[in-house]
Amino acid sequence: MESVIGMINEFDTIAAIATAVSNAGIGIIRISGSEAMEILVKIFEPYNKKADVYQLENHRIYYGNIKDGEEVVDECIVLIMKGPHSYTKEDVVEIDCHGGVTVVYKVLNLVLKNGARAAEPGEFTKRAFLNGRIDLSQAEAVMDLIDSKNEMARKNSMTQLKGGLSDRIKQLREEIIYQIAFIESALDDPEHYSLDGFPEKLLEEDKKWITIAKEMLDSYDNGRIIAEGIRTCIVGKPNAGKSSFLNALLGEERAIVTDIAGTTRDTLEESVTIDGITLNIVDTAGIRDTEDKVESIGVERAKKEIESADLILFLMDTSVQISEEDIEILQRIRDKKKIILLNKSDKATEESGFEQSALKEYISEETPVISISAKYGDGIDNFIMELKNMMFHGRIDVNQEVYITNARHKDALAKTYESLECVERSIEAGMPEDFFTIDLMNAYEKLGLIIGESVEEDLVNEIFSKFCTGK
Ligand code: GDP
Repeated sequence: MESVIGMINEFDTIAAIATAVSNAGIGIIRISGSEAMEILVKIFEPYNKKADVYQLENHRIYYGNIKDGEEVVDECIVLIMKGPHSYTKEDVVEIDCHGGVTVVYKVLNLVLKNGARAAEPGEFTKRAFLNGRIDLSQAEAVMDLIDSKNEMARKNSMTQLKGGLSDRIKQLREEIIYQIAFIESALDDPEHYSLDGFPEKLLEEDKKWITIAKEMLDSYDNGRIIAEGIRTCIVGKPNAGKSSFLNALLGEERAIVTDIAGTTRDTLEESVTIDGITLNIVDTAGIRDTEDKVESIGVERAKKEIESADLILFLMDTSVQISEEDIEILQRIRDKKKIILLNKSDKATEESGFEQSALKEYISEETPVISISAKYGDGIDNFIMELKNMMFHGRIDVNQEVYITNARHKDALAKTYESLECVERSIEAGMPEDFFTIDLMNAYEKLGLIIGESVEEDLVNEIFSKFCTGK
């Protein structure tokens, strides 16, 4: 396996539209590579005629015209960022033109005609990685930042981009390689380096590393929820108020509602972000077989949705007695993380016959039971508060911690953890020192995968292919 980072690469010059392609105030065409300035000279005429296009200064902005021969294509401003002080470490030019789709394509085509090649998705960031400006986990954080669905996800990606994760990984690797080097030296030169008492000391270190790796691994559950949202399933018998509750959530003033791409209307799915928490909600009302009311919840798809959900919201109608159907649902969701919502609080009276105490048999003491009125919006705040407590066990602080949100990082950490455990077992079994180095080296290499040391080119290509073009 050969490392693909650390070498300054000689690439051809690339260009792409960096902004969304729709009519907007401005559109940005980004150029990176050794010919970026040469291309600019061919198509740009500064407004200040005295400014010599051949001597445009670094880190300055120029106003002028983009021209195709004699024809003025657009008025624009141009930003010059010469390498290595640029995003890619190469010469980068950004052309800010008017944001009409036709305009930006015309400018891009002109740039391509004059010597650039169309950039592949993520190619600018890939160059930043290959030229050693950022490591692989930081490059991935760029993509996560762009994709972030909520404030917590944004903060976490930003911490990662600033090196929050890389620093921890690098620190661990340094400590591990130090111990490997010590063992090797001692084996080579026993006169000067003694291994007396070494295994005990290494065991102490190893246990500390195991704890760190475990903590990072454990953060993945919360990390995934922060990054992707909570897979949430609303269940309840017909008329319990499921749709009303969903509408109340979506209509919350603080709610940001996003359509989830690729979902069909028959499984009603909505994504709503409130106070930094994203709920991806499936309303089983939409997947219920309404012909058969008693078995309505028993449809295969509803069952699957319940199974795969992180969280069940069970709506109960408190204006009527608890029914067999309610009990059936309670049994089905017995082992799931859930919040019971006692709906129609505005209408509930003693005469309705709803006995909350009957729930005890089916839920644990920790299960939150919250009174709400979906129709009037009462109790929604309590619901959000409970949701936060429950999903993050009161410990979520994106300012302090880095959450693992990426499955690739999680896999590498899991393998690191296994190797460190092997070291522990070898020490405890009194194995010779050179035994430890194999597993220590494995841990070192697996950690390296996270930051992109010793990764294969195919993996790098795959990671960057998921980026958007122009980034
Ligand atoms: P679903 O079948 O579970 O989706 O239930 P809906 O949301 O369609 O609600 C059924 C009926 O109950 C509708 O007439 C709602 O207006 C009414 N409803 C829902 N929530 C409340 C509530 O909190 N209070 C009152 N009084 N009526 C409600």
